Amino acid sequence: MSITAATVVAGVAGQPVKHSLSPLLHNAWLAAAGIDGVYVAFGPPAAGFSAFARGLRGGTIRGLNVTVPFKEDALALADQVSDRAAAAGAANLLLFEADGAILADNTDGVGLLSAFAAQAPGFDPAAAPVVILGAGGAARGAAAAFLMAGAPEIRLVNRTVERAEAVAQALGPRVRVMPDTRGALPDAGAVINATTLGLNGGAGPEVDFAAAGAGCVVMDMVYKPLETAFLQHAAAAGLRTVDGLEMLIGQARPSFEAFYGAPTPAIDARSLVLKTLGQA
Ligand code: NAP
Repeated sequence: MSITAATVVAGVAGQPVKHSLSPLLHNAWLAAAGIDGVYVAFGPPAAGFSAFARGLRGGTIRGLNVTVPFKEDALALADQVSDRAAAAGAANLLLFEADGAILADNTDGVGLLSAFAAQAPGFDPAAAPVVILGAGGAARGAAAAFLMAGAPEIRLVNRTVERAEAVAQALGPRVRVMPDTRGALPDAGAVINATTLGLNGGAGPEVDFAAAGAGCVVMDMVYKPLETAFLQHAAAAGLRTVDGLEMLIGQARPSFEAFYGAPTPAIDARSLVLKTLGQA
């Protein structure tokens, strides 16, 4: 489909942004749905994101996904913020309305929960405590999403304890900071790696999965590689696993709908991304 004056433009902003998989996903969905739209990547300078985004007011483009390191800036510059973005303390989606307003949302939590639904059918986020490793933006977003889904307790374990305490302070009494995973596992419904450990094949966080109950589901937000050491150890202990790629695709779907006003078409997005990652 050729680009015309009516083409709806959206994109992703990050720094660096070159390796983002979002353009691949969204443009494949656009082509399959026959929508006159395009999705591009923007890499504004690290200190220049807010000026860049404010310059898009009034619908210059329809919207932006926002990734590291701009998610907190995106939340701060918006005129209207969804409850889930406020709880996450970050926005991964900005919409530029024709009247000049900038709306901020966060679809990472939807992506996370949809990944559990797809790969661990029957998993109930409200049934048991959830252990989250990390206290950065991804961990806070995951904690907020599980709290909104009814989790009775979030157990946060992070190298820098003060950072975990700040997240607990922001999210309230259902979030408990723990020094390590010992004692956190036996009654946990899920364990999530929201640290950067394991990225590009490094060692993941050390967790004694033998201490977890048989129904515990283990999720890794890292998806390069797809089968991280963390997930391999969990699977070897007989636990069900959920991967970070399913979350990535799950957060992109509602973004697509917000930008282009149509559901994502039924193509095999997962195989497409795996081929690009060289893991097909
Ligand atoms: P971030 O804000 O930089 O936080 C990084 C976290 O990793 C912190 O908790 C940090 O602990 C911990 N960490 C880093 N190096 C460590 C080490 N050597 N030992 C122990 N802990 C260490 O990053 P983020 O934005 O939250 O992202 C976290 C991960 O989630 C990234 O790998 C990102 O790609 C992934 N992610 C995936 C998706 C998806 O769709 N699959 C979405 C969002 C994020 P300290 O606080 O002690 O530094």
